[in-house]
Amino acid sequence: MIRIENINKRFKKLKALDNISVSFENGQVISLIGPNGSGKTTLIKSILGMVKPDSGKIFFKDEYIDGGFAYRKDIGYMPQIGRYPDNMKIGQLFSMLKNIRNEMDENLDNDLIKEFDLYSMFEKSMRTLSGGTRQKVSAAIAFLFNPPVLILDEPTAGLDPLSSEILKEKILREKEKGKLILITSHILSDLDELTTHVMYLQEGKMQFLKNIETLREDTGEIKLGKAIARIMKGEDPTGNFISEVLNKKN
Ligand code: ADP
Ligand code: MG
Repeated sequence: MIRIENINKRFKKLKALDNISVSFENGQVISLIGPNGSGKTTLIKSILGMVKPDSGKIFFKDEYIDGGFAYRKDIGYMPQIGRYPDNMKIGQLFSMLKNIRNEMDENLDNDLIKEFDLYSMFEKSMRTLSGGTRQKVSAAIAFLFNPPVLILDEPTAGLDPLSSEILKEKILREKEKGKLILITSHILSDLDELTTHVMYLQEGKMQFLKNIETLREDTGEIKLGKAIARIMKGEDPTGNFISEVLNKKN
């Protein structure tokens, strides 16, 4: 579905993405994990065409993206920080998006608008919204056009516990439909029940991509948070996994 070949991105001296090659397929929920500044958002933005890699290629459904943007209609994107016109009301924002997409109402996925009770806030302008409500709007937009691919950058950050559960349940339902979902979160417990694969980035390098079962076996930990903590601390319960990770040259 998405294939990345040898992409590199520098911001001046800083190497934000260091020769990343990876493929993602339908039905996978990839948790993109790594310390702050490891390149997660840069990778996501490269896939979306919002950052232009210095070299390398990205393919969507086997087609080289090459600066085009038509493929983006198949991707629902929830940005880490959603920016919207200050004076636009929530309701106007949704109407505008529907008009741009020219989508029939019956094709729309309004689940999150309903479950987050955004209809009751349609008259509020974006400027007045709390961070959490802004996140809810961003989430509702990502799912609205029922895209086969979802890219969610820190989706639960700033959401209250109930809203966070609503969003996780929604992500699970979309996973069960066989969509490809790429998700980053610092709250690893949020990823436990969603994840099929973990991609670990450090200083712009991909350290590994493993399916969750293998990761659990290799680290001897069931919880994703604990498994990742072992790796970050360089602990090596099985005697092979961590050294394999740390020695891997990309
Ligand atoms: P993450 O999402 O993993 O926290 P990012 O992809 O946002 O990391 O950033 C990776 C590195 O690239 C960081 O050091 C960040 O400061 C830098 N960076 C990201 N975007 C820009 C930019 N537009 N200009 C300069 N540096 C950037
Ligand atoms: Mg980020």
